[in-house]
Amino acid sequence: MNRALAVARRWDVAAAMVLLGVFVLGATAVTFAPPGSSVAVWWPAAGLAVAFLLATGPNRRRAAIVLAGMVVTSGLANFYGGRPPLAATCFGFANTAEAAVVWWIMTRGSHRPRLASLEDLGRLLLATLAGALVFGVLAGLIVTFTLDRTFFPTAYAVTASHAAAVLTLAPLGVAVSTKATIPWRLEDLLQGIVLLAVTLWVFASTSGLPLAFLPLPVLVWGATRLDLRALATQLALLGVVVVLLTSSGYGPFAIAGRSGGVAPETVGALTQAFLVTAAVTGLALAVASTQRRDALADLHTEATFTQTVLNSAAATAIIGTDRTGTITLFNRGATNLLGYQPDDVVGSLNWVQLHEPKEVAERARELGLSPGPGVLVHGLDEAGLSDTRDWTWVTREGARLVVDLTISPIVEQDGQVTGYIGVAEDVTERRVAAEAVQTALQRERHAVEELTALDQTKTDFLSSVSHEFRTPLASVLGYTEMLEDGAVGELTPRQLDLVSRIDRNGRRLLGLIEDLLLNSRIESGQLNLARRPCDLASVVDHAWEATGPLTQRRALRLRHEIVTRPVTVDGDDTAIERVVLNLLSNAVKFTPDGGIVTLTLDTLRDADGVDHARLVVSDSGYGISEEDQRQVFRRFFRSADATERAVQGTGLGLSIVQAIVEGHEGTIDVYSELGQGSTFTVLFPLATAVAPTGPVR
Ligand code: ADP
Repeated sequence: MNRALAVARRWDVAAAMVLLGVFVLGATAVTFAPPGSSVAVWWPAAGLAVAFLLATGPNRRRAAIVLAGMVVTSGLANFYGGRPPLAATCFGFANTAEAAVVWWIMTRGSHRPRLASLEDLGRLLLATLAGALVFGVLAGLIVTFTLDRTFFPTAYAVTASHAAAVLTLAPLGVAVSTKATIPWRLEDLLQGIVLLAVTLWVFASTSGLPLAFLPLPVLVWGATRLDLRALATQLALLGVVVVLLTSSGYGPFAIAGRSGGVAPETVGALTQAFLVTAAVTGLALAVASTQRRDALADLHTEATFTQTVLNSAAATAIIGTDRTGTITLFNRGATNLLGYQPDDVVGSLNWVQLHEPKEVAERARELGLSPGPGVLVHGLDEAGLSDTRDWTWVTREGARLVVDLTISPIVEQDGQVTGYIGVAEDVTERRVAAEAVQTALQRERHAVEELTALDQTKTDFLSSVSHEFRTPLASVLGYTEMLEDGAVGELTPRQLDLVSRIDRNGRRLLGLIEDLLLNSRIESGQLNLARRPCDLASVVDHAWEATGPLTQRRALRLRHEIVTRPVTVDGDDTAIERVVLNLLSNAVKFTPDGGIVTLTLDTLRDADGVDHARLVVSDSGYGISEEDQRQVFRRFFRSADATERAVQGTGLGLSIVQAIVEGHEGTIDVYSELGQGSTFTVLFPLATAVAPTGPVR
């Protein structure tokens, strides 16, 4: 059988026994009346039922079962006890109503009943009183209407007897579900024996001495030393013993009744008063001392925890001081850092003496104070404030440490500062490292500045040299052109060949100078594109025509496919022509004779629905290795392959191409395989929406 089922089964058995108990105790309750009185001193059936309900807790289903059972058993008990059926049934309901009221107030429908604080005890007293009053009123009404008796005497008597019974027995119901908090001691046994002995001596005596309250001091002893469960048990037993003995004619109350000093009804009242006093005194004391014990235990746990934390912070110094700065706490971390043992400093050293005097004096000057402990805690006069700064501490051996110290005030509830707590870490190494990093950084910044200046000088130099070259070169080219045109007479074929070589090389030089100048402009962020709507198709066409001289003496197959419609982009036509020319001249340069060079221009719409002009220059040449593909757009990059094959170039072309393309918000990509050829794809955003790709020409 699983555990939950076993527990449920146990509860069923207990509930059945309690209900049987309610019947038996109810039926025999009259025996609890003192001799001569018709009113029972207490009503243990009510106490038993309430105690069981409270032990059951806030489980409504189970409470309902017990309450329903109570209506039946209590009704039957009354009937068995000689009451007419109607009255018996009404009493069954009245008893149940009382138990329900107590249960409801104690659980508030969903809480487990507790006796952990004086507030809980207040709730128990309230619940008991409310339950007893409900029953008292109902009982008064029942006897008035069904038994033809008067309301008040019955109401008074049963309210008191029920209150006494519930107050004596209910705590046991609350306590059984709590854990025993104190281990069993010999003293408990002694106290129990003394309580029993004193109770028996007082209540079994026939001497009539007025010693009725003698058991109370023993109960008080128990209340301060025992846990709640043990005390509740003692209370219940005390109730049973006192009631049984008094009902049997023993003890001070019964004797007083017999000797005629007191009316038989008053004997009941005295017994109830005794039980209520014992319960309230015992419970109040037990709850208060349990609370105190718990608080002390919590305090102890907290103190142990704090101590452990303090000591485990082996690399962090934690120092406590009083208001004047005299050390009151010195943890292991502080010993490790400073070399002092707690005994050397606690109560005898002011923490300002741990500080480098010069630093304290300097800070004092800054704050306009005289050097002393006040300098360390300046302005820290409110809870929640703290001050963190670097200080230099002096160790016992006189060594200096830089510490990162945070000081916070200890502020009492009334706002008084009673001391300070300082938490410090040795940051000497960190500070040294930080300084080194700072110096290195500064040096690096300096170097970067120098390099930038150098770079600028180089750019300026290249730019001015290129400028200077351009003019004489233009005139050289002008003159060669004149020579070629026969301005100084017809040239011989040999002369013409030489002049055309001068012209070719001069133009290459001019190209190089143009590239260098453009590169300088790009570097200084002055590409200055003159953008306006232009037809890319005609720009590309134009560039294609211009490649003629490049391919003249080459055995290459040239193909071009350009859309027939205008492809309008917002661009600088000269710059774009340069892009096309550059890509084409690379394709021609890096493709051996017999290869193919292709140029295509079309439009396409990307996944985001944006229209682009697409320019593709591909060749079947040497190709570019994967590693080089990542570098071809870098300034001055030339593949080893290009250098080996002595292909002319500067490594500036593609970097300029990329700058121009990006200046048009376009993109450029390369796809290549070594030995298979290369494909450069350029995308330019279209200036306007363009119809789907048309036929090619
Ligand atoms: P350059 O052509 O003056 O060397 P570029 O910047 O135009 O400079 O090109 C850089 C390098 O990229 C070239 O040296 C070459 O190694 C490689 N490269 C460019 N285009 C091609 C191509 N179509 N086929 C093979 N290699 C190429």
